[in-house]
Amino acid sequence: MNESNPALELIRSVIPGGVDGNAKSFAGMPVIKNAYGSRLVGIDGREYIDYCIGYGPLIFGHNDPEMIAALKDSLENGGFIYGLPHLGMWEAASLVCRCVPCAEMVRFTNSGTEATLSCIRLARAITGRDKIVKFYGAYHGTHESVLIGIKASQKEPAYPYVGADSAGLPQGVIQDTLVLPFNELEYSIPFIEKHAGEIAAVLVEPVLGSYGIVAEKAFLEALRQTTAQHGIILVFDEVVTGFRLAPGGIQELFGVIPDLVALGKAMGGGIPIGAFAGRRQLMEHVAPTEDAVYNSHKVAYHSGTYNANPLAMTAVKTAIGKLMRDDPYGRINGYGEAIRQAIQSCMEAHGIEGTTTGMGSLVQCHFGIHGEIRRVEELVGRDLTRQERFQSLLMDRGVFFIPGPRAYVSAVLQESDVDRTLEAIEDVFRIL
Ligand code: PLP
Repeated sequence: MNESNPALELIRSVIPGGVDGNAKSFAGMPVIKNAYGSRLVGIDGREYIDYCIGYGPLIFGHNDPEMIAALKDSLENGGFIYGLPHLGMWEAASLVCRCVPCAEMVRFTNSGTEATLSCIRLARAITGRDKIVKFYGAYHGTHESVLIGIKASQKEPAYPYVGADSAGLPQGVIQDTLVLPFNELEYSIPFIEKHAGEIAAVLVEPVLGSYGIVAEKAFLEALRQTTAQHGIILVFDEVVTGFRLAPGGIQELFGVIPDLVALGKAMGGGIPIGAFAGRRQLMEHVAPTEDAVYNSHKVAYHSGTYNANPLAMTAVKTAIGKLMRDDPYGRINGYGEAIRQAIQSCMEAHGIEGTTTGMGSLVQCHFGIHGEIRRVEELVGRDLTRQERFQSLLMDRGVFFIPGPRAYVSAVLQESDVDRTLEAIEDVFRIL
């Protein structure tokens, strides 16, 4: 890989780090010229089978013709923004309500970050409580309350975990976020019960996106039961899992229904989007009234210049419609499983300690540890150097996994792309 990269230096001269998000930076990252179908194309002409797919949203791959036709039509005939209600938002929200079990009403945002932020504000408005619970290793976006306890350290954490993952977070905010162990009922449930009077929301990422660890159904069920008993709002962050694992996300698959859900990514097929949704009685706390004093004290404020713009609503309608019609889940989950199995067999064949995680089209692998991983603590001692080398060697062979290494499978992938990927994996293991 080309380490000295003049184009990247040029970008770095005006963009801090040369990246648009801190977690997206890695050694040897190429600068991209364009993309098509399953491929990213570097400015040096090299092509990569793309398993990053914009960090998840591009469930149909790049430049899907049906998405383009609908978006073009919207741009040419729909206008850019209205700032007034339109039937496109009703159509898009109705589709979300049809697919996502907990959704009776929806508000659209432009990102997953705004969606989780809005869920938390709404929960605080409803309960009158300040604290929130999140789980160690979970990522919920870039706002202050959730930039805590994201990264799994190489040491066993103590709980409740206190560790900001960004400079600049106020102490007051840090104190209001309680970070508990994921998939660990014995600690988390008594803790929540003990502090219930202070907790507005419990926020769960059903598959820890950074590590591929899947929430156990029993864990989600216990959280459902405890939060319901104590008047705490249960929020599932399905920004990644919603419309990817199934149209209705993990709640559809596991039958555990939260009070609120945060959505984004695949729901818009690559166009900036987010949404929060939930039971009517809860969502109506966002609706403004004609009483300004009531609005300031009782209504959870939510707004945004670009919310529910016609282009984004067209993206949501088209993406959800296409997912419901084409039902690509069996195929993309099958490809995900094939990649996981190939990595696992290579690990065994070459005597390299490692394991795979993920679910369906979400694929992840870890080196230096073995066996089934159900807790983030089990990642302690993983071989980060080998993980980086694996990702980098794959990239040299034209396959782009997110450093981690992690892969999102898209519906545009053909069997031949997956075969090429499996060959690249086998080749990398020969020299790993
Ligand atoms: N929640 C989860 C589970 C995510 O993975 C992400 C983004 O990666 C977010 C929230 C934030 O979404 P966005 O990047 O659209 O703000």
